[in-house]
Amino acid sequence: MAKECVVVGSGIMGLCSAYFLQENGFQVRILEAEKPASGAATGNAGLVAPSHIIPLAAPGVVWQGIKWMFNRESPFYIKPRLDLELLGWLYRFWRSSNQSHVDSASPVLRDLCLKSKILFAEMADSGLDFHVAHPGLVMVCGSAHSLEEELKVAEKARGLGLQAYEVSLSQLEPDVDWRAKGGVFFPGDDVVDPGRFCVALEKALRKRGVVFEQEKVISLKRVQSRHQIQLESGKTTSSEHILLTAGAHSSQILRGLGLNLPLQPGRGYSQTHDQPPMQLKHPLILVEGRVAITPFDSRLRVAGTMELAGFETKIQDRRIQGIHKSCQAFIGNWNPAMWSEVPVWSGLRPCTPDGLPYVGPLPGASDVWVNYGHAMLGLTLGPVCGQLVAESMAGNAVPYPHLFPGRFG
Ligand SMILES: Cc1cc2nc3c(=O)[nH]c(=O)nc-3n(C[C@H](O)[C@H](O)[C@H](O)COP(=O)(O)OP(=O)(O)OC[C@H]3O[C@@H](n4cnc5c(N)ncnc54)[C@H](O)[C@@H]3O)c2cc1C
Repeated sequence: MAKECVVVGSGIMGLCSAYFLQENGFQVRILEAEKPASGAATGNAGLVAPSHIIPLAAPGVVWQGIKWMFNRESPFYIKPRLDLELLGWLYRFWRSSNQSHVDSASPVLRDLCLKSKILFAEMADSGLDFHVAHPGLVMVCGSAHSLEEELKVAEKARGLGLQAYEVSLSQLEPDVDWRAKGGVFFPGDDVVDPGRFCVALEKALRKRGVVFEQEKVISLKRVQSRHQIQLESGKTTSSEHILLTAGAHSSQILRGLGLNLPLQPGRGYSQTHDQPPMQLKHPLILVEGRVAITPFDSRLRVAGTMELAGFETKIQDRRIQGIHKSCQAFIGNWNPAMWSEVPVWSGLRPCTPDGLPYVGPLPGASDVWVNYGHAMLGLTLGPVCGQLVAESMAGNAVPYPHLFPGRFG
């Protein structure tokens, strides 16, 4: 008889986990507060990025963040407020921002990203209606200092078996009027349209019998040795296995259980131009501006900003202006006026203090698993973490202690 599982949330993690749970013989029901993929999924930059081997918590990030804190157009912003959860998160982030953490986390990120690349290809080959493009990724550096730093990352990447080398920007993208010092190319990075990927997964899952229910989950309640799911509608439900994949909202759902899985929502913005004023052959990351520009077929998406401002939903126009100012600083023929009518999308990245996700069984529970906290790598890590958590629920332990959900005690 099929094992039963309820998945909470159907963003990239929920959909990928459901896909692999089905492959592992589970009968899956998904509880989603809104429509599938309503969170940080559809408007993200679409990079499947093994180049991102350095976790968010790395040396220098804290000081850079403090410098940017007081600039409303900066790529990283913390809304000043007295919030004990935020203070605890920042303390742990600061504790994790050191070289030994980077050295131990980078090979784990590399393995996960490379495995995910293979799984994306297998999923596309299996008939899911989405496409994986292989344009690589260019890290564009505005100053000699950032180019020097990026070349160090490239050297580290090569040490871990990835390809990375300096390139001539004008040869790679001759139509761009470059105002940058140089670039580093990671040919192994891919592009997937995240919206199309989620639609393809949802369609396939529905076809294979996965049930989607529109229900907002408020909390989990321990009843003897099992857990009950409390819904906003006032009802409760339960299942043999429960998987929490509610992105930035996940730790709130666990709040009553007395566990410590620190998480902050990191808001980012994007705009997608259907008839872009310029075309690119490769996706770019403008390093100092922390802006990604991704070509999807004939469309162009610009994405950026990491705003730690809680669950605030108001779109901050200053941030969008900051994104376009960064683009202008690197690209002479970038015209912000051409983007003024393009709708702004925003999403919350689920950020852990050490830049690594929580994947595996919930500490002290025999019926609850989690798969969240993928921050800027949620698309990249979707398939591999979906597979890892599904296999863990089928009885095979997650082979990466770095991802253990109870690591903060
Ligand atoms: C601007 C930007 C650019 C990005 N670019 C990239 C990129 O290029 N590459 C990359 O790998 N990653 C990127 N990311 C990160 C990636 O988008 C996220 O890490 C990823 O979407 C997280 O997936 P998730 O499924 O955990 O959460 P989400 O995608 O947010 O999905 C969570 C789902 O759970 C539902 N939900 C929430 N609360 C409840 C509840 N109480 N009850 C029921 N359902 C609930 C939500 O409605 C949603 O559908 C980017 C993010 C942003 C913001």
